Amino acid sequence: MSGRIPQDGSRSKLLTILSFLLLTSLAFFLVPSRTSTSLWPKDSAPLVVRDIPVAGCLNDEIELDYPREKGCILILGRNEDEDELKSSLLSFESMFNARYKYPYCLLSDTPFKASFLASLRTVLHEGAVIHTGLVTHEQGWGMPDWMDKEEARRKMKAMGKSGVQYGEKESYHNMCRFYTGPFANHPLLAGFDWYWRLEPSVKFFCKLTYDPFRFLAQNNKLYGFNIAVIENINTIPTLFPTISEYRNDLIKKGEIQPTDFWKMFEADGWGNHGWGEPAGKDGKPGYNTCHFWTNFEIGNLNFLRGKQYQDLFEHLDRKKGFYHERWGDAPIRSLALALFSNFTQTHFFEDIAYVHDTWMHCPLRDGIGCECECKDKGPAIGEDAWYSCLARWKEINALHV
Ligand code: GDP
Ligand code: MN
Repeated sequence: MSGRIPQDGSRSKLLTILSFLLLTSLAFFLVPSRTSTSLWPKDSAPLVVRDIPVAGCLNDEIELDYPREKGCILILGRNEDEDELKSSLLSFESMFNARYKYPYCLLSDTPFKASFLASLRTVLHEGAVIHTGLVTHEQGWGMPDWMDKEEARRKMKAMGKSGVQYGEKESYHNMCRFYTGPFANHPLLAGFDWYWRLEPSVKFFCKLTYDPFRFLAQNNKLYGFNIAVIENINTIPTLFPTISEYRNDLIKKGEIQPTDFWKMFEADGWGNHGWGEPAGKDGKPGYNTCHFWTNFEIGNLNFLRGKQYQDLFEHLDRKKGFYHERWGDAPIRSLALALFSNFTQTHFFEDIAYVHDTWMHCPLRDGIGCECECKDKGPAIGEDAWYSCLARWKEINALHV
């Protein structure tokens, strides 16, 4: 018969099931989580659609239940970087990737030795996936074929003599050019949407208890940084005028709109950031040389493979500045983001403490980050440091909160 409460035996079965359901859901709410407090509710699902740094630790187990993004940990390196890379990987694994298990993508212009790869493996989680690839000339290593190599080498030598950092080092110019444009189209990265760049001799000081790729993806962001500083202007004397002209053309053609992201990089009219280039002949502001430091960066590959970004790369390449000057990938990446994306699509990973060479980022505010070991590790770059661009970042950020 239908529509009637089941009798006797079936009724007690139903009660058992109901009490089981009730108890398990109570347990879910009552059993304390093993992690400490967070600005992001631990049991929130899906993760965090808020643009705030993590205070304390998240519940890793919940985080780990979500599927990974198509992300790869990108390393451009050489066999001789073995020790320095191992030290970076040891720190990276213990703070993040031993749990999140993202694959590694290793690229080089010279083949990796089996002994180098075996040695790296000793500091990675069991079963770590390592993709390796060679960067050929066609895939963007070295001066383009149409370039007058002798002329470029004369210029590089002169840069070395006049004290431009790495000015005379052709391999460094190659690296900067590759990391500006071609890397995003390398076949090794073809199946990936995201990269996290990792360099030799870096160290992380906080545990990361969420997936930054997922954070960016969920929040419709394209890029993340943790250090923003000024650049040596003698490496990029004509970069800003060149990009500004390109920008003005695009605006005239209606292909892009001016963004207030761009203001982050203009030298005048903003607080005490008077350094950088003087105003151009047209009276327009020069470049304050601020940029996101790319030795740490987490970015969206589809954005970098897109027509707007790659057209800009081609344009800059034709201007020869990767070899006639020593244009870095970092200022170009930052200015390109300001041209082609919204300010809110770049994220400051305040909770990812990090050091590269002598420059270090640690959360400046109390309680940000998970189990950070920043104390006594050296000076973090405060936003009032003369070479820091965090204050400028925050001025623009204030327009968006
Ligand atoms: P810095 O951080 O600006 O001082 O530059 P690095 O010397 O750390 O170089 C940046 C990254 O590119 C590092 O991961 C290097 O291992 C890598 N790199 C630089 N030059 C070359 C090169 O000629 N070949 C390869 N395969 N990697 C390079
Ligand atoms: Mn480096």
